[in-house]
Amino acid sequence: MISRRQLLKFAAALPVVKLAGAGAPIKQARAAEATARPASNVIPWRNWSGLQVAHPRQRVAPASIEDLQQLVAEASGVVRPVGAGHSFTPLMNTDDVLLSLDRIQGLVDYDNENHTAVMEAGTRLYNAGELLDEVGQAFPNMPDIAEQSLAGAFGTATHGTGAGLGCMPVYVNGLELITADGERVYCDADTRPDLFQAARVNLGALGVLSRVHLQNRPSYRLERTLEWQPIEEILAEADALADRHRNFEFFYIPFSGWGFMDRQDITDAEIRLSEDHTDQNEGVYTLQSLRDWLGWSSRLRGFAMDMYMRRLPAEHTVLPSWQTYTHTRAVRFNEMEYHLPREEGLKAFREIREVLEKNFPEVFFPFEVRWVQADDIWLSPFYRRDCISIAVHRYYDEDHTAFFKAVEPIFRRYGGRPHWGKLHSLGPQELAALYPHWDDFLEVRQAMDPEGRFLNTYLRELFGV
Ligand SMILES: Cc1cc2nc3c(=O)[nH]c(=O)nc-3n(C[C@H](O)[C@H](O)[C@H](O)COP(=O)(O)OP(=O)(O)OC[C@H]3O[C@@H](n4cnc5c(N)ncnc54)[C@H](O)[C@@H]3O)c2cc1C
Repeated sequence: MISRRQLLKFAAALPVVKLAGAGAPIKQARAAEATARPASNVIPWRNWSGLQVAHPRQRVAPASIEDLQQLVAEASGVVRPVGAGHSFTPLMNTDDVLLSLDRIQGLVDYDNENHTAVMEAGTRLYNAGELLDEVGQAFPNMPDIAEQSLAGAFGTATHGTGAGLGCMPVYVNGLELITADGERVYCDADTRPDLFQAARVNLGALGVLSRVHLQNRPSYRLERTLEWQPIEEILAEADALADRHRNFEFFYIPFSGWGFMDRQDITDAEIRLSEDHTDQNEGVYTLQSLRDWLGWSSRLRGFAMDMYMRRLPAEHTVLPSWQTYTHTRAVRFNEMEYHLPREEGLKAFREIREVLEKNFPEVFFPFEVRWVQADDIWLSPFYRRDCISIAVHRYYDEDHTAFFKAVEPIFRRYGGRPHWGKLHSLGPQELAALYPHWDDFLEVRQAMDPEGRFLNTYLRELFGV
């Protein structure tokens, strides 16, 4: 079998052909900061990808809910709650007060008869997964990383994959919030139901989420199989596999004709780690090197990748669910993800692939394709429709704008709704047309925060305030 090292040596040798006149190297435009401006002595805040930059005059991290109430009540200017800063959109940006709940994390209470738990909303998912496991509980599903805070994940309708599983806020029974004047309020399906509907996916625009009442399930193990296959074969059976397996998704490697499928099902089997483990972060750098050396010839690049990928072995692991779902994403990127009606998703995938492979040889990041079940949350992108979610990425240091601008009309033509935490260009009119309860949400927001103390420039524009 050809090793990654051999593949790169092979590719590195090929520029000899290029010097003989076969093609020009790919030029990379650097990514521009979305909101940079000169700072005085304020240390800039950046999101995970570095695209969003803000200069908060004050950064606060209360150590208790009482301190949090007082801070919110007394803060001057725009207060923006921040979790792990893993959103790509300027949701968190403020030049006034940036508020973190990193010091208020943990499990407050649990009930193993009903598999419910109360957690501090600032708890990061990696802590939450472990704490719940210790008391015999687990989230029904999780996204593909575990850095996010619970509040941040619920606030943007963060999701994993599973045709029979909803996004994270579906598994919430009740929420506690600190309002603009520092009051502590509770809501659920019976108590202040409109507030509960709006607060499950809230973009941090209603108040500061302080506690979440979770509907979990008994802890479980997942058997995971990762398998490489030509993309046409994956596409032919993807929808059926999404119904057959509890968690199914696939990735496509641009220009290769290959993708890999990730299937997960509940098991009682013993913990097992794969002998052939592919480091996905290293894999992304390999794709980048191939782009740099062979990007001038899609055929040669495809040939090199085909030679390599057809020999990659399948991987099998068995781990506790919270460890199986999430991975380390060490290579930074910017991302656009839209959630499309399930029946349209794979058609959109084909069009995006065509546009990319025709016009954007510089792109090397894989696409990610996932399944998410319909729900009834006002601002959930999955509101009343089963979805296929398609995510496209560009390396953080390269300009993503032309590529994302080219694929967004395809997402929109198929009726897609954007992920709230990922890049998109929609404004209040387009969003109102996509969300039947848009005005209901705005009404609740206005009642909760009439002075707009939680609204930054981005949210004002998004809500048309
Ligand atoms: C590498 C990477 C992988 C990702 N994988 C996935 C994935 O698999 N699935 C998916 O759906 N998304 C994914 N995302 C997106 C991510 O899950 C969301 O953007 C999520 O909102 C980030 O959570 P956070 O804690 O970083 O929140 P932030 O990005 O800091 O904030 C997000 C929103 O929550 C609000 N907020 C934060 N804390 C509070 C609070 N206490 N009260 C009220 N509002 C609050 C903020 O104001 C903001 O509006 C990924 C992002 C990255 C960078």
